Amino acid sequence: MNIHLISTYNMGRQPFGLASPAAWLRDAGFEVTCTDCAIEPFPAAAIANTDIIAFYLPMHTATRLAVPLAQRARKLHPGIKLCFYGLYAPTNADYLKSLGADIIIGGEYEEELVKALKRLQANQPTENPQTNMGRQQFRVPDRSALPSPNRYAKLLTSEGKQRITGYTQTTRGCKHTCRHCPIVPVYNGHFRVIQKDVVMADIRQQVENGVEHITFGDPDFLNGPGHSIHIIEAMHQEFPHLTYDVTIKVEHLVKHRQRLPIFKDSGCAFITTAVESMDDAVLQIFDKGHTHSQFVEVVSAFRDLNLVMNPTFVAFHPWMDTEAYLRFLETIVELDLIEHVAPIQLAIRLLIPNASKLLDVPATRKVISHYDAAALVHQWQHPDPQVDALQQTIEDIVDKLTASGASRAEIFGHVWEVAHKFAGKNPIPSMQLEIADRATVPYLNEPWYC
Ligand code: SF4
Repeated sequence: MNIHLISTYNMGRQPFGLASPAAWLRDAGFEVTCTDCAIEPFPAAAIANTDIIAFYLPMHTATRLAVPLAQRARKLHPGIKLCFYGLYAPTNADYLKSLGADIIIGGEYEEELVKALKRLQANQPTENPQTNMGRQQFRVPDRSALPSPNRYAKLLTSEGKQRITGYTQTTRGCKHTCRHCPIVPVYNGHFRVIQKDVVMADIRQQVENGVEHITFGDPDFLNGPGHSIHIIEAMHQEFPHLTYDVTIKVEHLVKHRQRLPIFKDSGCAFITTAVESMDDAVLQIFDKGHTHSQFVEVVSAFRDLNLVMNPTFVAFHPWMDTEAYLRFLETIVELDLIEHVAPIQLAIRLLIPNASKLLDVPATRKVISHYDAAALVHQWQHPDPQVDALQQTIEDIVDKLTASGASRAEIFGHVWEVAHKFAGKNPIPSMQLEIADRATVPYLNEPWYC
């Protein structure tokens, strides 16, 4: 049986979500081909001889992009079976079934993919969706059919150089239950470990293939600190020149503050942290597990250690207004974070996916108009239409200026001006800050979308 695995979007990284199942399926005797449609054309002709086309759905944007391709595949080859797997598959199962999905798998998908394909081969029925939360013994991801790492997003270093970037994970899922997080409806406060020898072998094969920097895609790198820190220590010992980045929540950065020097000493280029809001009331709604003052404390700890932070935000949501947006921008200035914040973060609007825990909050239900299956979200409008207009304007500015190659400081300056005009401020206050040189902050040259 032939299976073609497709990824549509993986934040500019070579997708683990194709390489890992490719290894499992080949071990089980299936013929596997792969296309990363983020950088390769859709294989319209090549899939003519494929029995199943399987779309990897790790996030919202990837799912939106996969839908028209699945429809196209079915139209071109009406007999082809459609499979969807990854985080967004089970929570959108009804919609995917309406597209004719034959197999829908969430959670720890590799083992279940093999089982589902074997059932299909034996003409046995499959119940959809299947969400596997079992502990898997992982295989080393098979990256042989994927585009070269050189074709993906690169780390731009503080010296202005580019480093070829690879991607792996030490865990999946998360032990926390933040209400706005799409991981929670599937993993519900649990995470699963990828064995150390598998992670190390995956890093090794990527380094042999030219990778100079690794992004660890764990939703939170300190969910299992013993496991993950053991891996970065082993990685640094074997590849002292390799740099890396990880994502760690503010709560863990506070709790494990004494461990932060390990990151600085082992080649960590930056740490992404989902701050979401500067407002404690909003942090409580999200159930983020940290306060604004703890975030400020972490910013200061990073400065002391010379560690680079890449904070992310949900800038627009129902619990803010134009004045709150100005305070958000002011806090970025006060904390000297302009160069640390990717411009898209100034425009991010809250997504409320199906089964989101935010739906349990009465204030959320008040602003939701309807569930939009094709958009894969509960649509919401801000009580003040000016806020939605501001969000759209900021998003347009960020898109346009990013495309034109403007610096983070230039984009922030435009956003600052427009936001103050929207709020009716005249004159517009100056930012009162000397903008640091961009080259002091390393980052990946791929805008961030969820
Ligand atoms: S800590 Fe991060 S990954 Fe975990 S539930 Fe919260 S937002 Fe999601």
